Amino acid sequence: MNLILLGPPGAGKGTQAKRLEDGRGLVQLSTGDMLRAAVASGSEVGNQAKAIMERGELVSDDIMIAMIKDRIQQPDCANGFILDGFPRTTAQAEALDVMLADMGLALDHVVEMKVDDTALVERITGRYSCAKCGAGYHDEFQKPAKEGICDSCGSSEFSRRKDDNAETVTSRLASYHTQTAPLLPYYDGKGVLAGVDGMAEIDEVTRQIEAVLEEG
Ligand code: ADP
Ligand code: ADP
Ligand code: ZN
Repeated sequence: MNLILLGPPGAGKGTQAKRLEDGRGLVQLSTGDMLRAAVASGSEVGNQAKAIMERGELVSDDIMIAMIKDRIQQPDCANGFILDGFPRTTAQAEALDVMLADMGLALDHVVEMKVDDTALVERITGRYSCAKCGAGYHDEFQKPAKEGICDSCGSSEFSRRKDDNAETVTSRLASYHTQTAPLLPYYDGKGVLAGVDGMAEIDEVTRQIEAVLEEG
């Protein structure tokens, strides 16, 4: 099964993708994580992307399309994948269609995670993750069971993204509304779009996504 989780920054795409990865053996393809790894490694792509990401703007379609094309052809994707953060523009969506057609693959579902802009600001400014295993947390909404200790790996080191601040959020939301939201009618026209209530609690959102996937 091949899926797209589509929603604004902070909607819960990464949180739900990790759950689907564990529950269904699908691979999470997060272009944000790939870009952050490129920035950390100091590669040419990373150096080009760094300032753009810090401003909350979108990295060029050429870079993103090449990155996902390379990743999607790797053997671990053959059992199915969850795209998290890609596509974000119509050009990316069209390039994805061509890629999938060339590989003889199809998109099974595009799940829209609907969340109000006001809630997104709280989600993004309170977000942090385990520095060792990447497990995601939130200051209020998703605390580790034992304070200061990662539930998944026991580490006590955590980190926050440089772009998760109140200033950048505004431009990231604007990019979503102008450049990414047009993908909703694009996928609706293909008959693969389904919406879930991203404002609900994390477990309830998972149940709603599972219900979409059960529809076949
Ligand atoms: P969030 O889920 O909070 O929106 P991501 O981790 O998906 O954040 O992305 C972080 C940043 O990486 C984006 O603000 C953007 O600069 C860049 N980025 C990630 N994916 C894409 C993409 N598909 N196209 C363009 N830029 C991207
Ligand atoms: P995205 O990948 O779409 O940018 P994340 O999955 O990183 O979003 O979630 C953003 C923040 O909100 C994280 O700190 C996460 O713990 C928290 N979060 C995710 N889903 C929910 C939810 N349904 N209710 C409350 N907080 C949530
Ligand atoms: Zn951890």
